Amino acid sequence: MNEILNYTDIEYFSLSRLLIRESESINRWKNGDTRLSICISCNSCYNTDDHKCIFNIVYY
Ligand code: SF4
Repeated sequence: MNEILNYTDIEYFSLSRLLIRESESINRWKNGDTRLSICISCNSCYNTDDHKCIFNIVYY
């Protein structure tokens, strides 16, 4: 990914909803916790202004 970012005109990568819901998933898997993501694939994050998981948004 670094090579693509550094040597092409691409500006960013869009990763999966899994990482929107649980940004620490990769580290969790690397540490042996291979439980499935808690993302429920509801696609509601596509309807938020900044594509955040609706379950991670903190309302004050
Ligand atoms: S809003 Fe739904 S689809 Fe999007 S990351 Fe959260 S649980 Fe997953």
